[in-house]
Amino acid sequence: MTKVLCVLYDDPTDGYPATYARDDLPAIDHYPGGQTAPTPSAVDFAPGHLLGSVTGELGLRAFLEKAGHTLVVTSDKDGDDSVFDRELADADVVISQPFWPAYLTAERIAAARNLKLAITAGIGSDHVDLDAAVAHGVTVAEVTYSNSISVAEHVVMTTLSLVRNYLPSHQVVLDGGWNIADCVARSYDLEGMHVGTVAAGRIGLAVLRRLAPFDVKLHYTDRHRLPESVERELGLTFHPTAADMVPHCDVVTINAPLHPETEGLFGDDLLGRMKRGAYLINTARARIADRAAIDRALRSGRLAGYGGDVWYPQPAPPDHPWRTMPHHGMTPHISGSSLSAQARYAAGTREILECWLTGEPIRDEYLIVDGGALAGTGAHSYSVAK
Ligand code: NDP
Repeated sequence: MTKVLCVLYDDPTDGYPATYARDDLPAIDHYPGGQTAPTPSAVDFAPGHLLGSVTGELGLRAFLEKAGHTLVVTSDKDGDDSVFDRELADADVVISQPFWPAYLTAERIAAARNLKLAITAGIGSDHVDLDAAVAHGVTVAEVTYSNSISVAEHVVMTTLSLVRNYLPSHQVVLDGGWNIADCVARSYDLEGMHVGTVAAGRIGLAVLRRLAPFDVKLHYTDRHRLPESVERELGLTFHPTAADMVPHCDVVTINAPLHPETEGLFGDDLLGRMKRGAYLINTARARIADRAAIDRALRSGRLAGYGGDVWYPQPAPPDHPWRTMPHHGMTPHISGSSLSAQARYAAGTREILECWLTGEPIRDEYLIVDGGALAGTGAHSYSVAK
């Protein structure tokens, strides 16, 4: 029988919800491009309910226990003697969400003798040491596309919030004030600006498509070029590297995975090539940007704003400089964990588990590492040390 260890974020501070703001979710069975949404044999949860927190259990308990497997769910993942570390010793499968990542370091993977499968309930498996997963024959899978559009919506929201100075203006209302000049002295229209994405994969392309109606000039850089028809349709300008692209852009959004090629990409050098007063939005991974360099760029005015939802480490400590730097629009890591997204990645996690437990192949598009090598989506989007 299989022991599944699931690391999830804590319940709401005032308890697991008894009611919700809305009664249903739109039905989405296909993603742009045609990939089907998850197809487990069944689900034991109500779509629209909170699934990503400890009590939500990704809706997995009944399914696993009925089949005689063990499910351990905890939020206690860091520090000495965490529940995660204790339970990992004999776990066969680990499930974790990037929002509350259970860091599967090389040491942990070496110590987890039974570990065969690490599932990311969501997208982005950089919390797993992929080199170690390759070396130890651990399969890594994620629920590709489950929250790509959720993140793209967050990027559009953050772009508009920063450019139009929404958050400080909202604060004026909360504070009982009405000084219009305080609100508008940093407020611009997005119309006509040059917007560029570092990576035009599922999220990056969705951001480009959503921003096109704002009559902006769109740019991108990626390791592979998009089809000419898409470039033409959206009026895209391709740049071979981020360094080539950023001097042209008023807004830059990062939508690449964190891997050796992208780690630390936005440091002093690249930020120094950006236009004075540019905005940078990063919902990809915090370590693609240099923490101190972002703080400096906001204080010097090189950046007019920085926003996104990804931090390192997570949870971010109370004294993390991105909490207090000027002109930021940061949230905790939430963009890919809307209730809508949770329903999809919980179903996708169950689909992966059903395949795994019955010996059926996991969809290629969900695979990151398999059989001791990068596989599926992982082989396309990630790199490991040679
Ligand atoms: P995709 O795999 O669809 O797209 C990633 C793109 O990044 C690919 O087009 C890939 O290029 C490109 N890329 C990889 N390396 C580079 C590089 N060095 N320079 C330029 N482009 C590069 O992934 P998604 O769009 O679905 O997700 C992107 C990332 O967003 C995830 O890896 C994850 O880290 C993050 N994410 C964040 C979430 C959140 O909640 N904040 C939720 C979901 C994802 P190519 O394939 O052409 O080689």
